[in-house]
Amino acid sequence: MGRFGAVATPAFMPVGTHGAVRALLAEDLEKLGFGMILANALHVYLRPGVELVERFGGLKRFMGYQGGILTDSGGYQVFSLSPFVKVFDDGVLFRSPLDGAMHRLSPKDVVVIQEKIGSDIHMPLDQPVGYPASEAQTKAALGRTLDWLKASLKAKNPERGALFGIVQGGVFPELRVRASIEASELPVAGFALGGFSLGEPKNLMWELASRTIESLDPARPRYLMGVGTPADLLEGVRLGVDMFDCILPTRLARHGQLYTSKGSVRLKNALSRSNEEPIDPLCDCYACKTFSLGYLAHLYRIGDPSVLRLNTLHNLRYYGKLLEEARHAIGSGRYDQWVAAKLSRLSSEREGNG
Ligand SMILES: [Zn+2]
Repeated sequence: MGRFGAVATPAFMPVGTHGAVRALLAEDLEKLGFGMILANALHVYLRPGVELVERFGGLKRFMGYQGGILTDSGGYQVFSLSPFVKVFDDGVLFRSPLDGAMHRLSPKDVVVIQEKIGSDIHMPLDQPVGYPASEAQTKAALGRTLDWLKASLKAKNPERGALFGIVQGGVFPELRVRASIEASELPVAGFALGGFSLGEPKNLMWELASRTIESLDPARPRYLMGVGTPADLLEGVRLGVDMFDCILPTRLARHGQLYTSKGSVRLKNALSRSNEEPIDPLCDCYACKTFSLGYLAHLYRIGDPSVLRLNTLHNLRYYGKLLEEARHAIGSGRYDQWVAAKLSRLSSEREGNG
């Protein structure tokens, strides 16, 4: 347990890829108390564009939001979303998935984009590999990722945000360890564990994450990118992860699937319609304090947009509360007992899913 800037860790960051956590107001985000959200520098660069955001005084002023922002570099999105991408030693050439225009970005460009956007924590351009990928491919991509990290550090203005190193290495433990050791030798503010949750078996993911974390400088924060479910957060915290982001709570909320302490519920289910209780009587979010599950199911059925906001508020509060409890359990030295009890409830929740 610790802090990174104004954020108590371990922490979860709601995902606002395009500079908006969908369905929420900036005020909602501030009240939820996460302290930091995630946006994607590449998406903001493509739309609305860095110059426009700069003209509005940076992404926070553009969004009317006063909390922290971590920006992902978009390396992963260049490779996963772009219809054409070519890698050079000094950067990437890719076609925009939005309008087909060609763009060329170097590690330095990606640093400058994030400095102009005005986010607090920046990610360097990296070359992720998919799953599965051969050892030779993974090794080549890792070498380039480390070279690009060094180029990013050289380009970084230390007055304008903190740069993390992205630690890759695919599914090869010795590459993961090498990536961790080399990144630890560099003056990065923290470490982002990349290339996880891409379809690899979960036990392999945790084994690799564990090897990665063991080889990192323990004095700097560790951020596990794009992971995961409530059970994943608990396991990650146990291994020493300080920061998480995941689209799951916000995306499921928009699909009417809600986390509760007694099992997840779907607004689509007929049983939800006649339920006079809140989503979760133990939750202190606005949706639970104000509305019945039956009313939310009604809003969902008639397609009223307010239900997206209410659901998102609830699911994010569930994640926030889970980590609050985790921090408390760590603070009182009983994390393992607390997590065992919580995990057994989470697994019975999965069985109880409707
Ligand atoms: Zn709630």
